[in-house]
Amino acid sequence: MQFPELILSTHGPGETLALGRHMGSLLEAGDVVALVGDLGAGKTCLVQGIARGLDVPESSYVRSPSFMILNMYAGRCTLHHLDLYRIHSPAELEDLGYREILYGEGVTVIEWADKIDSLLPDEHLRVCLDFQEETGRVITLVGMGDRYRERWEAFMASLDRFANG
Ligand code: ADP
Ligand code: MG
Repeated sequence: MQFPELILSTHGPGETLALGRHMGSLLEAGDVVALVGDLGAGKTCLVQGIARGLDVPESSYVRSPSFMILNMYAGRCTLHHLDLYRIHSPAELEDLGYREILYGEGVTVIEWADKIDSLLPDEHLRVCLDFQEETGRVITLVGMGDRYRERWEAFMASLDRFANG
C-alpha cells in the first residue's frame, strides 16, 4: 500500500519548532506520531512545537524527562510525550499499560518510536529526522493509514513553506 509522503527541510531549531506547531494544530485526539531520528536530530524540539500547536500553554516546559518515560501536558487535548531512549525492548513498555496511551483519547508523540514498532498502531504518522550539516534537518512525514490520508492536503497546504527544494 502506498502512503502519502512529505519531505521537508528546516534550517535551525526555530524552523523545526514552527513546523511542529503547524503539525500540532492539525493533530486530533487519538493521533499517534512516531518520531525516528538519532540523538540531537531535533525530536524534542519538534515535540515542543507540537505542544504549542495543541495549545499547551507556554508555561508548560516541554522536555525529555531524565528518569521517566512519559510526560503529559494539558492542551486542546492531552499530549502524551513518550521518550523511549532508555527502553531496550518493547516488553518493557508492555508492563506500563502502554495500550491505554497509544490507543487512548489524547495525542501521543513518541521519541525513538522505532524501538517499539511492533506495538505501534497500524495507523500513525511517522516522522523521520535526518541531519543535513550542522543546523539543517530533513524531516520526512509519512501518513500511515486512512486516518492521515484524509488530512494530507491540509498538511501539505500548511507545511508548504518547509517543502524541500
Ligand atoms: P533529540 O530529541 O532528537 O535528541 P533535541 O531536539 O533535544 O534532539 O536537540 C536538537 C539539537 O539540535 C538542539 O540543540 C538544537 O538547538 C539543535 N538544532 C540545530 N539545528 C536544528 C534544526 N534544524 N532542528 C532542530 N534542532 C536543531
Ligand atoms: Mg529528545
